[in-house]
Amino acid sequence: SSAPDPIPATLFPGDGIGPEIAEAVKQIFQAAEVPIEWEEHYVGDQIDPRTQSFLTWESLESVRRNKVGLKGPMATPIGKGHRSLNLTLRKELNLYANVRPCYSLPGYKTRYDNVNLITIRENTEGEYSGLEHQVVRGVVESLKIITRQASLRVAEYAFHYAKIHGRERVSAIHKANIMQKTDGLFLKCCREVAEKYPEITYEEVVIDNCCMMLVKNPALFDVLVMPNLYGDIISDLCAGLVGGLGLTPSCNIGEGGIALAEAVHGSAPDIAGKNLANPTALLLSAVTMLRHLELYDKAERIQNAILTTIAEGKYRTADLGGSSSTTDFTKAICGHL
Ligand code: NAD
Repeated sequence: SSAPDPIPATLFPGDGIGPEIAEAVKQIFQAAEVPIEWEEHYVGDQIDPRTQSFLTWESLESVRRNKVGLKGPMATPIGKGHRSLNLTLRKELNLYANVRPCYSLPGYKTRYDNVNLITIRENTEGEYSGLEHQVVRGVVESLKIITRQASLRVAEYAFHYAKIHGRERVSAIHKANIMQKTDGLFLKCCREVAEKYPEITYEEVVIDNCCMMLVKNPALFDVLVMPNLYGDIISDLCAGLVGGLGLTPSCNIGEGGIALAEAVHGSAPDIAGKNLANPTALLLSAVTMLRHLELYDKAERIQNAILTTIAEGKYRTADLGGSSSTTDFTKAICGHL
């Protein structure tokens, strides 16, 4: 019998270290015989009037068609008359949830050995609606928008994620004691969705208490779902628990089942083009993409090869205290597949 048809996926190598770490992903996927065919798209050098940004319409169409993609870091070009790249992606593809898995890497010592958390951040509204104005001199106002539609959508995603990944608990993070209407509505939506998933434990935790609990004992949590601003802060806190930016993956979920995985870090212009970048964050993002495609065997195999390479400690990039180049670290991972 012949091999199954490869699955098309969009790849944005991005700027700065992006092409170097994207190359690492391509090599490792090839070595692991992942049945994916990349459609590569670069950020354009002029504004595409159809997107009002340097992202081309064709590249967005590619994601819409494939429904799955991997994005390297993008440095937003300076100048007027265009939309930021990340805003364009979020708006055009309606990327409503940002999912960040956060787990301890064995052999890379941090304060905790047992972190295994998923933060799910509402990505379209809340405090990030961009509705700010001055009322009178010395008084400004910022509108926090919470809608039933967006809250149900992200809650539904969180419970669905928990269910298909065998997770036991979903915690909604909030400040509804103070933000009674906005966070109150968010919680009401989470509760409604929770009722449809009786096998999953549901709890509500006030954000300040959540921070204290996370720092004291991250094992208290499993899946966390929250409005935009809390998600921004808590997901960075969680990244800090396991070792920081070079390691942490994420995945953006959009309307119609789109999944666009991306590393959390930026284009690292200070080390770009020097073969020094750590590809782990983008690789682990690519692994979340494979899980989204239910290619669990490939995902496990690649993740194990990355973790084994880091745990052995012989090949590590400079950000983890080693002296390996991007390409040597990549070769070592291929050797472990
Ligand atoms: P950055 O994440 O690019 O760099 C911060 C520090 O972390 C630097 O010292 C860098 O060398 C290091 N670093 C980051 N990723 C690394 C990796 N994989 N391996 C080793 N070291 C790594 O943040 P910045 O300097 O604030 O931003 C640079 C550019 O990236 C800006 O143009 C910014 O707009 C853009 N950016 C894009 C995204 C994105 O596309 N999602 C996110 C953040 C920043």
